[in-house]
Amino acid sequence: MSGFDARLRLGGDSIREACGVYGVWGHPDAARLTHYGLFALQHRGQESAGIVASDGERIVFHKGMGLVSEVFDDERVATLPGSIAIGHVRYSTSGSSHLDNAQPIVVRYRGGWLALAHNGNLVNALALRARLEDDGSIFQTTVDTEVIAHLIARSRHGAGGELETALPAALNETRGGYALVVMNETTLLAARDPNGFRPLSLGRFPEGGWVVASETCAFDATGAEFVRDVRPGEILAIDRDGLRSVQATLAGKPSLCAFEYIYLARPDSNFEGRNVHAVRKDLGRRLALDHPVEADIVTGVPDSSLSAASGYAERAGIPYEMGFVKNRYIGRTFIQPSTTARAFGVQVKLNPLRKVLEGKRVVLIDDSIVRGTTSRRIVSLLRQAGATEVHLRIASPPYRHPCYYGIDTSFESELIAATRSVEEIREAVGADSLAYLSSEALHETITGLPDWPVAERLCLACFTGKYEVPVDGARGKFELEEGKGGRA
Ligand code: SF4
Repeated sequence: MSGFDARLRLGGDSIREACGVYGVWGHPDAARLTHYGLFALQHRGQESAGIVASDGERIVFHKGMGLVSEVFDDERVATLPGSIAIGHVRYSTSGSSHLDNAQPIVVRYRGGWLALAHNGNLVNALALRARLEDDGSIFQTTVDTEVIAHLIARSRHGAGGELETALPAALNETRGGYALVVMNETTLLAARDPNGFRPLSLGRFPEGGWVVASETCAFDATGAEFVRDVRPGEILAIDRDGLRSVQATLAGKPSLCAFEYIYLARPDSNFEGRNVHAVRKDLGRRLALDHPVEADIVTGVPDSSLSAASGYAERAGIPYEMGFVKNRYIGRTFIQPSTTARAFGVQVKLNPLRKVLEGKRVVLIDDSIVRGTTSRRIVSLLRQAGATEVHLRIASPPYRHPCYYGIDTSFESELIAATRSVEEIREAVGADSLAYLSSEALHETITGLPDWPVAERLCLACFTGKYEVPVDGARGKFELEEGKGGRA
């Protein structure tokens, strides 16, 4: 499975993206910058996009289904004036993919207008929602974001429109992973969950104004300078009095999602001071050390496995080659997770380079295996193109447990590594050999470097099954997701 084109490539056999959030305070072109920021975050969600803007008195918004380029053009963005804006790109499961669930959500409550956009998943959303419904709340969407909006509206701190105190009170009732941007007519707030599962960074425009985004690549795209990562459990409030930091009371053990490094984020993003491409290359080098094999060439599955493949080739002393050409112009039709699209997906999206592969013993690097169906197709494509041996090396450990903190993954029963041994998986995908990076090697590679501030700061739950925040309440939610509750 491979990074930021995973849905296009695999049509469902993947860890699908989360969502992306972007927010601006104090820039005259807030909506336009948010538009560009969402382009940079498009890999995190392709199902819907939305922008809300405020000129200090009036909130206006537009959102729709599809890619950022399908929902917005310059004329549309021009209808969103003001110096404050937030934006969102969303990935959802097919059952909850409709306009009602597009974000940011915009509501009016006793404190005035409120707009929220969220990346993550609340593990206690079902319980919170049931309680709110018992108290008479009416929900218009199935996303967790609306639960947070209700909690803000009902907070006794929110009566005077004091969003800065109502938001921490609301978030202290939640459990799970989130990166959240919230705004009213005058204020932008940004919050990260107490464990920091989901990433969120703070930046600044040279000409003035603040920006927050899920990934730092969105700062580069909009000319902003990185200031720092938002801390786990931290809430930032920005208004005409400046930027303030409010640490929520429930800060937990920092547990940044390891999959952001392995696969989710763009290679040009940085988290905790580490560049994603550099981490992936290090993972490839470690893979070569731990799992060497005699071969003629190393290749990777485009796009994000290419970084790990180059690291493997460098350390192993085996030439790195481009084994596939990727068609980058396939539209959203192929994103739909239908069986037909899945059957076509790999062949149309990826074409193996016969001239490179013919007669060669190939090391194929991928970043993970979910159900195994895609790996089987890709190994088969290599053989059809003339590869004499295919040795599959995975730059992460066996992926055995679902994510409950905001990444849309398959159920446990669908994860091939949950029920089969490495040898059984090798046989299923048709490779000559198969090896994974160990959890220890993954952890050491990401955290064991001098510039990493503190060890043990990663979530590895989908590999180890050790969930930092209990997920019992979330299991039922995912089973019911078609009808109720949805991941943002
Ligand atoms: S369970 Fe896996 S995908 Fe989910 S936050 Fe943890 S490392 Fe990331």
